[in-house]
Amino acid sequence: MQQTVGKVYLVGGGPGDPGLLTLKGQRCLTEADVVLYDGLVNPLLLRHTQARAVRTCRVDEGAGRRLDQAEINAQLIQEAKAGRCVVRLKGGDPFIFGRGSEEAAALAAEGIPFEVVPGITAATASAAYAGISLTHRDHASAVAFVTGHEDPTKPSSALDYDALARFPGTLVFYMGMHRLPSIASSLVAAGKSKDTPVAVICRGSQPMQRTVTGTLHDIVERVQDAGLRPPSLIIVGNCVLQRDAIDWFERTPLFGQRIGITRPEAQADSVIDLAISLGAEPVLMPTIRIRPVSDWSDVDATLDRLADFDWLVFTSVNGVDAFLGRLWDRGGDARKLSGIRIACIGDATRVHLEQYRLRADLVPESFRAEALAEALAPHVSGQRVLWARANRGREVLPEALRAAGADYEQVVVYEHEDATSLPAHVASQIERGELHWIALSSPSIARNLAAQLSPEARGRLGNTTRLAAISPVTLAAAQDCGLPVAAVATTHTWPGIFEAIQAVMSESSR
Ligand code: SAH
Repeated sequence: MQQTVGKVYLVGGGPGDPGLLTLKGQRCLTEADVVLYDGLVNPLLLRHTQARAVRTCRVDEGAGRRLDQAEINAQLIQEAKAGRCVVRLKGGDPFIFGRGSEEAAALAAEGIPFEVVPGITAATASAAYAGISLTHRDHASAVAFVTGHEDPTKPSSALDYDALARFPGTLVFYMGMHRLPSIASSLVAAGKSKDTPVAVICRGSQPMQRTVTGTLHDIVERVQDAGLRPPSLIIVGNCVLQRDAIDWFERTPLFGQRIGITRPEAQADSVIDLAISLGAEPVLMPTIRIRPVSDWSDVDATLDRLADFDWLVFTSVNGVDAFLGRLWDRGGDARKLSGIRIACIGDATRVHLEQYRLRADLVPESFRAEALAEALAPHVSGQRVLWARANRGREVLPEALRAAGADYEQVVVYEHEDATSLPAHVASQIERGELHWIALSSPSIARNLAAQLSPEARGRLGNTTRLAAISPVTLAAAQDCGLPVAAVATTHTWPGIFEAIQAVMSESSR
């Protein structure tokens, strides 16, 4: 039987902010079997896919192997011919200086079905994130996207600088950083005023965005002084002047802060989104992985006699998912909980429970096992209480509930597994002083981090890398392991951690 041919989607991944992906692009990623992504793509976009992902670098980078364009084309064709759904994910827009049309042509020549999903190109995104309107009606009636890749000193240069100098609008140069001196001098030589405003935007739309402004006369020096590097865009025109008034992104509260997110990866989505919305760069460094129990027999036996219990206690979102997920998988549903009262340790757990359309009957004021035990104590004497818990954690609840006269039982519904070491890129970010914060969201995370740090990395803590703790309990655990903590959340949630970091930063900038 002949193999059905798959399909290739040439998808624009946007300029770096992972929120700047289209809905269609996201759907393609969800459906893909294979993703080939290029060096400009933010790897966070891969969180939308379960596919096998291959990074294609056209430039040598570290140990990564270089793939040339012919090899990429051949791989797309081969994967599609094997019947797979392939996403070719490219930085920005696939057809703007992206060679996407060459890939499309190679697919067309082989009769392979494909679609092109446009993306937000670097020019519009970087300009918007730097507070520059490329077509501001007072300043520009046109905009030109220009490649700076050609060498203007060569007679064969494709760029007509006379025409560019006369162009009645904004010029945006892609791939022009290494030729900035000759681009600036060629424009002036062709008659453009040396006072024409210029902005160079590095890593546009990303927390590490940097913008340097000047004129054709002094931009080279300013960019050199600032040490800007590719990927950068050069924007030439009066529209640059507007930036001072409407530059918004570089003023976000945690702009440019690289923050280690220690939360287990599967639950990191909302934290990633929050960090990005505050201008920070989230660095995933889960020190704990969550895994299902290897043997469900205890859980199943407990689920079979749910009617025996008066109270059900959840102290984590994972506990809710594991317990209710197993109940569902075995053919049960929320009706099995009728008559049982539910207690949650805090708001995150309560809100998560509501997604199952279940309301918590009791949530303590403060997010601590002690507070939960205290709130439960008046209700549990002679009552049968079940805690759906992890394989380890603090033993405050069992002791306190038994002391309050409860007929206490517990069942392990999920397991914590320690990561044995920090991801290599995180370790080197700490050692190079490039990770600004590490957010600790539980005592065991604090202890794991302490165990994973090299002596060099430890030496950085408190200086270039500061620690933020979610609660006093986590603070105490960190201090017990000799970790210095610079910020402690007053609201014991992830948003609370970010607020605490913000508070420390505005304190120190005063
Ligand atoms: N297809 C991409 C462009 C690829 S060419 C797009 O539509 O955006 C690569 C060039 O794009 C880089 O040399 C740089 O000039 C520019 N570029 C890409 N991402 C950028 C970013 N986040 N900030 C500034 N420039 C960027």
